[in-house]
Formats: sequence, structure tokens, C-alpha cells
Amino acid sequence: MARVCPLCNGLQVAPKLCPRCGQEMEDKGALQEFIDPYSPYLSQELGENFAGTGDCVHLYCCPFCALDQRFSVPKQLI
Ligand SMILES: [Zn+2]
Ligand SMILES: [Zn+2]
Repeated sequence: MARVCPLCNGLQVAPKLCPRCGQEMEDKGALQEFIDPYSPYLSQELGENFAGTGDCVHLYCCPFCALDQRFSVPKQLI
């Protein structure tokens, strides 16, 4: 058994509507993938946030108004 993010593993899709313009936002993937490995400050900051919840944080971007938002996705046991 492992705890995985259902979105990262293609088990589930979670459409989000843009709070500003109401259009469907695009899942840009897990925030971890955006962490620059050569930026220890950023990695540490994000690592602390992730450590508290164990959730996978996804970045969603609205293709219409360019708003981006982060959503926590609870990991599931598979
Ligand atoms: Zn994920
Ligand atoms: Zn929008």
C-alpha cells in the first residue's frame, strides 16, 4: 500500500473553475515538479508546507485570465 496523489497518477481528474472568470482551469501538475533543485531556499519553504499535510499541491492556471491557484489534493491509499 502506498499513499499517492490520485491526480498525479491519473486515477482522478478534478476540474476547477476559475474564481475570477468562471472558466475551467488547467491542471499544470504537482507543485513539487516546479521546484528548482538548485534553489534550496524555495525547496525548504515548500517542503515545510508539504510536511504539515501530506497532501499533493497542484498548480492550476486559468487559460483565459492567467490566474493561478494552488489546490491541496489529499493522497489516497492504493
Ligand atoms: Zn499530485
Ligand atoms: Zn480566469
